[in-house]
Amino acid sequence: MLYQSTRGGSPAVSSARAIVDGLAPDGGLYTMAPGEIPKLDWRALMDLDYPSLAAKLLSALLPDFGEGEAKELVEAAYRGKFSDARIAPLHDAGGELFLELFHGPTSAFKDVALCLLPYLMKRAASKCGDTGDILILTATSGDTGKAALEGFRDVPGIRILVFYPRDGVSPVQKAQMVTQAGGNVKVCAVEGNFDDAQTGVKAVFSAMPEGLSSANSINIGRLVPQVVYYFSAYFDAVRTGKIRPGDALNFAVPTGNFGDILAGWLAGEMGLPVGKLICASNANNVLTDFIKTGVYDRRRPFHKTLSPSMDILISSNLERLLYLMSGDSALVASLMDKLRTEGHYQIPAALLQKIQDRFVGTCCDDAQTKAAIADVWEKRGYLCDTHTAVARRAASLFGTENGPVVILSTASPYKFPAAVLSAIGVPCGLDEFGMMDALEEYTKVPLPENLRGLRERPVRHRDTVAPADMLEYVRAQKEKSTWA
Ligand SMILES: *Cc1c(COP(=O)(O)O)cnc(C)c1O
Repeated sequence: MLYQSTRGGSPAVSSARAIVDGLAPDGGLYTMAPGEIPKLDWRALMDLDYPSLAAKLLSALLPDFGEGEAKELVEAAYRGKFSDARIAPLHDAGGELFLELFHGPTSAFKDVALCLLPYLMKRAASKCGDTGDILILTATSGDTGKAALEGFRDVPGIRILVFYPRDGVSPVQKAQMVTQAGGNVKVCAVEGNFDDAQTGVKAVFSAMPEGLSSANSINIGRLVPQVVYYFSAYFDAVRTGKIRPGDALNFAVPTGNFGDILAGWLAGEMGLPVGKLICASNANNVLTDFIKTGVYDRRRPFHKTLSPSMDILISSNLERLLYLMSGDSALVASLMDKLRTEGHYQIPAALLQKIQDRFVGTCCDDAQTKAAIADVWEKRGYLCDTHTAVARRAASLFGTENGPVVILSTASPYKFPAAVLSAIGVPCGLDEFGMMDALEEYTKVPLPENLRGLRERPVRHRDTVAPADMLEYVRAQKEKSTWA
């Protein structure tokens, strides 16, 4: 099984090469060929522990990695990193099901993939015979950056440079990044929003692809580890009697770059009885409109919301879905070109029908996000973050007539303490760090250890660039023999 570019303009490559390179030379995303998504007998996987399950799925999707090898990498990647040994526990909050993905080292779901990606990348580079150093370039809407920095910190032969939108991340997210330690890490603010940062990173890739890779979900090595928790959640739902084996299980996914929800779709294509995938957006509701109408139109105001990791108007991974569902790379190339030049495109009716068969799109504003946090807290005694709340609101609108819905819980509420405190009606005039303590005192939900003492950590990164200067900046940093 080789990986193709979604735009059909560059040769197919091995799964190892796809991970090392991150993005295809023609600007497309590496994806298995349509019709080559491996099918598995999920019933045979039900009793596996998380690393064994992950190893089965990884070796099926990334054929350069044997199952034994995958298991060894998964175990090394997750060992001692998660505060919950189950990695992705399914939490039953009075009948509402939350798939908790935030027990990793940076308290966001990105950890599940980004703990593992460095291990996959090192091994993939050695399989490809690449001996040079790798520079990881990453644009972040807030959570990827920190998770990638932690994952790649002090990994020999790899350096990582993270770009974040200067005014687009929460104070906690910013503090997590600019205090990052490690001899091979760099963090730089971009004068713009996430789309500017992501577009800038893609432009650097086009201009100087040699020796660069990506830790964004445009890298297939980011996506594959996320397939695993859809399986584990399904099995947990069976084990706890929420569904019978074979019943469809729906998932509500707070969506930004469309990576997480695409992993859920892949799980379904691999044979898992996935019901509807509920694509939950905040006020940046480009995907909601797209799923309803087949028109993708980013010509709209960019909203800064309480769920900043989903403040995105160009959802990169949608390109993979369009390719896998249509099998038509020429179509995808022309749509992506139209998006770039005109800011919008429309898909054919038959393709829209296929999307609507599997996906439902819903959006909500900040007031509804806060109302969802308050509702879960008051009714269930369960504290959720702003992103999770967007998905919870979508799940409530969807209802349970079509079976239970698993809500993907993608961040700890402590990453967004101001919004969460105000949602549950605790006014306070403290800064975000004081609010973390206030939130813990009031709710008694324990503050994750990695966020404790954040305020006191020294700031190590102060660089800022304009989007137009990103290429120059990367060139200059790449030239330096050491960042330490
Ligand atoms: C990144 C992120 C999302 C969105 O995930 P995508 O894979 O980009 O769709 C949702 N919630 C949180 C907390 C995130 O960090």
